[in-house]
Amino acid sequence: MKYISTRQQEETNIKTAILKGLADDGGLFMPEYIPQLDSAFFEKLPNLTLQEIGFRVAREFLGESIPDENLKEIIDEVLNFEIPAVKISENIYSLELFHGPTMAFKDVGARFMARMMSYFSEGKPMKVIAATSGDTGSAVASGFYNVPGIEVYILYPKGKVSPLQEKQLTTWGGNIKALEIDGTFDDCQALAKQILSDEELNQKFTLTSANSINIARLIPQSFYYFWAFAQLQKLGKPIVFSVPSGNFGNLTAGLFAKKMGLPIHHFVASTNANDIVPNYLETGIYTAKSSVQTISNAMDVGNPSNFERMKSLFDNDVSEFKREIDSYSFSDEETKIAMRKVRNDFGYTLDPHGAVAYLGFQKYLEKNNEELIGVLLETAHPAKFVEVVENVLKETIEIPEKLAAFGRKDKLATLLPNDLSKIKEAIMSR
Ligand SMILES: *Cc1c(COP(=O)(O)O)cnc(C)c1O
Repeated sequence: MKYISTRQQEETNIKTAILKGLADDGGLFMPEYIPQLDSAFFEKLPNLTLQEIGFRVAREFLGESIPDENLKEIIDEVLNFEIPAVKISENIYSLELFHGPTMAFKDVGARFMARMMSYFSEGKPMKVIAATSGDTGSAVASGFYNVPGIEVYILYPKGKVSPLQEKQLTTWGGNIKALEIDGTFDDCQALAKQILSDEELNQKFTLTSANSINIARLIPQSFYYFWAFAQLQKLGKPIVFSVPSGNFGNLTAGLFAKKMGLPIHHFVASTNANDIVPNYLETGIYTAKSSVQTISNAMDVGNPSNFERMKSLFDNDVSEFKREIDSYSFSDEETKIAMRKVRNDFGYTLDPHGAVAYLGFQKYLEKNNEELIGVLLETAHPAKFVEVVENVLKETIEIPEKLAAFGRKDKLATLLPNDLSKIKEAIMSR
């Protein structure tokens, strides 16, 4: 299968698409077509394990470039934690994506990408660049920590990630370098793009991106949509996924799953005050904005990078978009009320991102009075946002040992201004 840039100027294979991250024309790589899974797969789906599903789906996208036994081994390592669909109420399930090493869904994509890069780079030295609004950085750091030949640079916005998130980004040492940028997440994302296309750096080093712009992050995120069906299809009702969205990688992976033949009824793209996509669906006009800070900070994105991919899936047609996706924006106040309501009514603790997803599904239900199952993608463990969650729920929440261990380590970060030349210096000096 070929991989083609969303800006049409570059065509390559999966190996190059993964190793480069971003295409030379500035676009994002997409498979030339979305493969279909056969009916035998769907008949067996309820009896398959998460790992079996992951293998089958991944093989469709990159089976020509990696032998089955290597791919199987990689998938088994990546998916070595549970992703349960936990019942919140009669018709709402929380797909808990946070049981990996850094307790956010980004572990799935980052672990897969790290292993694919290591496989395809064949031991050649490489520098991986990642901008993060919080959770990407730690998942990427965890995925790449101690991988020989690979150095990782994580750009994160100073003062705009939670204290625990910061510890998860900055306490690795070794081949992981945290760059604390005096700017916003959008600045970090823009800097990362500039670094990746910088001629001088590209002459000296092999550079690649670890953001959700990398196709290797996206592909494995489609696995768990199938896995949710495997768990819930027996309920016999249409399934709607509410996806708390920032850069829209998670949602785009869901669109892949549906195009592969998974009968997903509808998607809800739930956002916080960063309402770029809800506005686009309403007006048909895409307007990037500066991001605003919210309590669901991993979604504070003002120019979602995967919009280009979604646009190409929908042929740039807003009515096609609307056929598959409803999108709503919610304030922090609404998010807090939802967290309290779900805690009080159902005894379930949502993190702020999951709460935005809950609100999105509720809104969809108000507009569509149907018998449905809503699956919330619960993207982070509530303890990752302990300050917000305790403040909103007025109760202490238990910190899992996996997270507590980060809190005890010392921060190692280089503070830098929002200035490409200074960041280049930091990268060159290593
Ligand atoms: C990154 C992140 C999101 C947003 O995911 P996208 O794929 O960027 O839309 C939502 N919730 C959490 C906890 C995240 O870390």
